[in-house]
Amino acid sequence: MHAETDNQPQARLSGLNHPLARLLAVFFWVTLAAYIVVKFDNSSSGENIIWIANGLLLAVLLLAPRWRWVSYSAAGYAALVLSGYLTGSAWGRNFELHFLDMVEVLTAALLLRRRSTDLPQFTSPWYLLRFTAFAVILGPVVPCLIFYAINIFQGQPTTTILRSMLDWVRIDGLGLAITTPTCVAVLRLRYRDEINWGRHLAFMIAFIVATLALFSQQYQQPLLFLLYPLLVMLLLQTSLGWAALATIFVAIVGGSFTLHHMGPLGADTNLTTVQQSVYLQCFVAGAMFMLYAISVVMENLHNNEKSLQRSLSMYSLVTENSRDSIVLSDTDGLRTYVSPAVIKMLGWEPKELIGHDITEIAHPDDRPTLQKLMQEMRVGSGESRMQYRARRKDGSYIWVEVSMRLYRDQATQLPAGVLSMMRDISERKQAEQQLQQAYEEAEALAVEDPLTGVANRRRFDEVLDEEWRRAMRSKLPISLLLVDADFFKNYNDTYGHLRGDSCLRQLAEAALDVVVRPGDLVARYGGEEFAIILPNTDAHGAGTIAEEICEAVRSRKIRHTANLSMNNPSRIATVSVGCCSMLPKRGQLPVTIIRHADKALYKAKHDGRNQVVSCESTNRKPAARKSKKAAALKPAKR
Ligand code: GH3
Ligand code: MG
Ligand code: MG
Repeated sequence: MHAETDNQPQARLSGLNHPLARLLAVFFWVTLAAYIVVKFDNSSSGENIIWIANGLLLAVLLLAPRWRWVSYSAAGYAALVLSGYLTGSAWGRNFELHFLDMVEVLTAALLLRRRSTDLPQFTSPWYLLRFTAFAVILGPVVPCLIFYAINIFQGQPTTTILRSMLDWVRIDGLGLAITTPTCVAVLRLRYRDEINWGRHLAFMIAFIVATLALFSQQYQQPLLFLLYPLLVMLLLQTSLGWAALATIFVAIVGGSFTLHHMGPLGADTNLTTVQQSVYLQCFVAGAMFMLYAISVVMENLHNNEKSLQRSLSMYSLVTENSRDSIVLSDTDGLRTYVSPAVIKMLGWEPKELIGHDITEIAHPDDRPTLQKLMQEMRVGSGESRMQYRARRKDGSYIWVEVSMRLYRDQATQLPAGVLSMMRDISERKQAEQQLQQAYEEAEALAVEDPLTGVANRRRFDEVLDEEWRRAMRSKLPISLLLVDADFFKNYNDTYGHLRGDSCLRQLAEAALDVVVRPGDLVARYGGEEFAIILPNTDAHGAGTIAEEICEAVRSRKIRHTANLSMNNPSRIATVSVGCCSMLPKRGQLPVTIIRHADKALYKAKHDGRNQVVSCESTNRKPAARKSKKAAALKPAKR
C-alpha cells in the first residue's frame, strides 16, 4: 500500500506492484483464510465465530488516504465475493451478503473519519467512544435496516426489528470491536524494526505451541487465560503490532477448534454454538482490550520519559554549552554540581571540585569576603554578586565574577543550597587595569615637564595656590625660590640647543638633590627658569636651600665658557636665585610671593649673577647675600 510514483510506469503495470492489486490479493487471502478456517456452519444457527475481513477493511480505510477509498472498497468487495464463491456460496447470496458488509464498513469509516487527518487513536478515550458509537453500533445497524427492509419486501421478516439490530450489533459489532483495533495495530507495525528474531523467535514458537496446546485440551476453560500473561510479555518485549498479530492467531486457532467442536469451548456440550462463539469473542476482545490498556499506560510512561529526556537534554544543552560555569553547592558550602565550562575557565575537571568547599579556590585575600557572603546566603539573604581571584589548576589566578542565589527545597521551602554562576572577567579586569594605567600616565603627563621630569607650570600654580591657603590657615611661613640659569642664551649659542636641554636637565637634578622634604615642589617655571615651593619654611631656611642649590649646580662643574657671572673663574654653569618668604595675610594672593621672588631674582642678576638674593634683602638691605658666605652656612632649621 505504498504510494505510486509516476516515474515508475513499469512498476505500476507489473502485477502485484500495483497497490490495488496487492490489496486485492491481501483481502482475498485473508477472506479466504477466514472462510476456510472460521467458515460459519450453515447447518447450525448460521453464526459467524470471528469475522476478520470487515475489521481489516475498516482498519485499511481508517489508515489510507480518503481518495483511495473507492478503489480499496472495490478491491475488498471483489475479494469477499470471490473467496465466498470459492468456498461454495452462491453468487447471488455472495453479492447480497457482502454488499451489506461494505455498507457496514463504509458507514463506520465515513462517520469515524470525517477529516482526512482523523487517524485512528485507540489509546484515546474520546476516539474509543466515537468508535463504539459509529463502528460497533451504527455500522451494523445501517445494513441491518437494509436487510430488514429487503426481508419485509420479500415478505419474510423472521424476527422483530429490535431483535435483528441486537443480533447484528452482537455479531458484526463485536467482531469489528475486536478486529479493527487489532488490524490497525498490525498494519502500523514496522515488522523489521520491532523484532529481534534471535531474541524473540523462541518466545514466539513457545507462544504458538502454548496457544495450540491450550485450545486443543478439553474442558479446562480457565486455563485459556494463561495466554493473557503470554500476550503481555509479547507486548512488552516487542510491540502492540506483534501482540495484535498474536491475538489474531489466537482468534483463528480458537475459532477453528471451537467450530470443529473441539477444545475447551467447542467441546463443552453445556454451551450452545452461539454461547461458544460469544465466549470466544469475549476472550479475544478481553485480550485486545488488555493489550490496548497496557499500551496506553506504556505510551504515557514513554511520553513522560520523552518529555523528561527533552527537559534533561535542554538543561544539559544550557549548562554544558554556557561559557559561564554553573556551580551548585549545599548549605555547608560544598559543591554538588559543577558544569563543564570550568575546565576551560580554570583547568579543573568538575569531579575535582565536587565535594569541596566553594571558597577553597578563592585567593587568600578574597576568601574572607567570599566566606562572609556565602554565610549571608545560607541564612537567606537571597542573592549577591562578587568579583574575586580564583585559582586555576596551574596555580595562577584569574579574575571571576560570581553571582549567587539561594535555592530552596521545593517541598519544604527550606534553604537547600546556593546556585552560583561564575564568569571569567580576566579580560575585562585587564582592560580596566590598562585603562587605569593609561589614565594615571596621562594624569602624570599633564602635571609633569617632559624635558626635565619635574612638575610643570600648571602643577606649580595648583600647588602654590594650595600651599598659600594652607599657610594662611596655619599661620606658618611659605617660601618661594626662582632659580634662573645664568647666561643660558650664550650656552645655547656655544653648545647648541641639545646640549642646552641636557644642561637644563642637570640643573633640575641638582635642585631635586637639595629639595628632598616631602611637600616641597620643584617645578619648571618656564625656559631656563625653575620655581621651588617650600611650605612651612622661613626666610632663613629658604636662603639656606637656595645657597645649597647654587652650590649643587656649581659642584656639577658643567662647562660654560660664555658664562660671565661673577666669581666664576672656571667658567662653569651657574644659577641665580630669587628667594622670598612670607606669612600670607587674608586677602593676599599667591602672585604676591612670585612678584617678590622675581624682584629678588632680578636683583641677583643685576648684582652679578651666581648668587642668592632674598626679598627681605631687596626690601631692607640693598646688599645681596653672597653665595660664598652662604656656602659656609650650616643648613638652616626649617
Ligand atoms: P641671564 O643670565 O640674564 O638669565 O641670561 P640668559 O641668557 O640666561 O637669559 P635670556 O632670557 O636672555 O635667555 C634665556 C635662554 O634660555 C633663551 C633660550 O634660548 C634658552 N632656553 C629657554 N628654554 C630653553 C629650552 O628648553 N632649551 C634650551 N636649550 N634652551 C632654552
Ligand atoms: Mg630667564
Ligand atoms: Mg637665564
